[in-house]
Amino acid sequence: MIESINPATLELNGKVKETDLEKLDKIFENSRKAQKIWAKLPLKARARKIIKVNEVVSQQFDEISLLISKEVGKPPSEAFTNEVYGVVDSTFHYYISVEEILGKVEEIPLGFYESLDKRSFLLYKPLGVICVIGPYNYPFAIPFQQIVQSLMAGNSVIFKPSSDTVLVGQKIQEIFDSINIPENLVQTVFGDGSKIGNSLVDKADKILFTGSTSTGKKIMQRAAQTLTEVTLELGGKSAMIVFPDADIERAVLAARWGVFTNSGQVCASVKRLYLHSDIYDTFLTKLIQLTKELKQGIPTEPGVDIGAMINEEQLNFVDKMVKIGVDEGAKILTGGQRNPNFKGYFYEPTILADATNDMKVVQEEIFGPVLVVLKFTSDTEVIEMVNNNQYGLTSCVWTKDIKFGQKIAEEIDTGTVMINEVVYTFALAPTPWGGTKNSGIGRSHGKLGFYEVVRPLHINIDQYKGPDLWWIPYDNDYQVIVENFKNIAKSLVVQDLDD
Ligand code: NAD
Repeated sequence: MIESINPATLELNGKVKETDLEKLDKIFENSRKAQKIWAKLPLKARARKIIKVNEVVSQQFDEISLLISKEVGKPPSEAFTNEVYGVVDSTFHYYISVEEILGKVEEIPLGFYESLDKRSFLLYKPLGVICVIGPYNYPFAIPFQQIVQSLMAGNSVIFKPSSDTVLVGQKIQEIFDSINIPENLVQTVFGDGSKIGNSLVDKADKILFTGSTSTGKKIMQRAAQTLTEVTLELGGKSAMIVFPDADIERAVLAARWGVFTNSGQVCASVKRLYLHSDIYDTFLTKLIQLTKELKQGIPTEPGVDIGAMINEEQLNFVDKMVKIGVDEGAKILTGGQRNPNFKGYFYEPTILADATNDMKVVQEEIFGPVLVVLKFTSDTEVIEMVNNNQYGLTSCVWTKDIKFGQKIAEEIDTGTVMINEVVYTFALAPTPWGGTKNSGIGRSHGKLGFYEVVRPLHINIDQYKGPDLWWIPYDNDYQVIVENFKNIAKSLVVQDLDD
């Protein structure tokens, strides 16, 4: 059995049965059967069936938020706004947009070949069985959106939640079980990733993985054996850059939320804060004051801003990284230790200042309530520092000069750059989500997310009478055709280009 422990109180939430590895073949067989039935339904009919989850979820807003809170350690209100609301909003968005994105048969212009009565069409087919492997930090919102996109596109899904959040995984299964879709279209498997992961990668048609970069690399390596497609949503080390003309009041509040929400266990958390030297001291003084006002506590109690971290191992890792930061020369301005007032996994909101870009705490993901702060003096310097990192998930630029902000944004190597915002674009269902470098491959959400769960099918139709010009025999007539082709090719040379 896999136990679910409340990380704030250390109470047992419940248990689920680990999936027997020997049953995986049958699970995949059932998944393939269900997918074949499902894919025969028109896109619109599939979307109409899936949107029913919104009704099911809306009847259990509080129950689901509380369950997330008890498994992850975040306040239920935060679980609602950042996860449950997001699921309903994104499912609605996919419901209204999927036909426009995947439902049209698009004709592709063929130029010269059209004169030979040839036409081409592009349409999108489901991939088959998609395996969604989820992380612990947003155990409801992240896999749910990927499941919805996969299903609407005509696939079946086998879902593996994190072993830390099995009850939320079970809840997702329950929600899909309660709508009218073919049996086994969505199946959830439970187990340690290192035990069950390889079999999932070997048998699936596509892996939608969200988790750490090290696990993502293992999955990609395994997937190379079968050429299984992968979308990898991995780690991050998001930077917030604050220029002197920024709205400092709003930026400080944004930084506090961006760093500490979900105890900093967010792929897109503000993890590096780059402050211009003109505002370094004033900004930091305000941020420290606001951070000290945060209420850390049992997340289900009223007024709590920050709850617990997921488990002892992650908490110890965070503590080890903070100590490394101090050894490297960074200064703890607040926090810097496990919160001694609780037996659960609480780490105090921590700010490490006077950091330099080469420090391990600046370069590596800590994944806890820890911010590192750095100083910069010029645009080029800060762009170089921000880009000099293995991760490229999100970043944000704070300035009132939007044109200038956009100029800086275009120089930054991350999947998303926000101007005057932090973290939240995961909530925007129509916009692409994904990173560069070690933050991953591919995109989820929106149009690009749908394209990750289908295969393009190109259909070419020929109504030309007689043989094509380029077919054998290569006789004298053929030489005339070759000359004609040369003339056509010359007409395709573009002249008088302004460089
Ligand atoms: P993790 O890599 O430890 O686990 C993620 C999932 O992978 C779990 O379900 C786990 O059981 C499974 N797994 C582990 N080994 C596996 C294997 N060999 N084969 C297949 N599956 C395997 O990640 P985590 O600790 O749950 O999540 C935190 C990490 O996820 C952080 O690095 C964070 O930045 C990242 N994350 C990224 C995004 C994003 O959208 N880019 C979102 C959330 C979290």
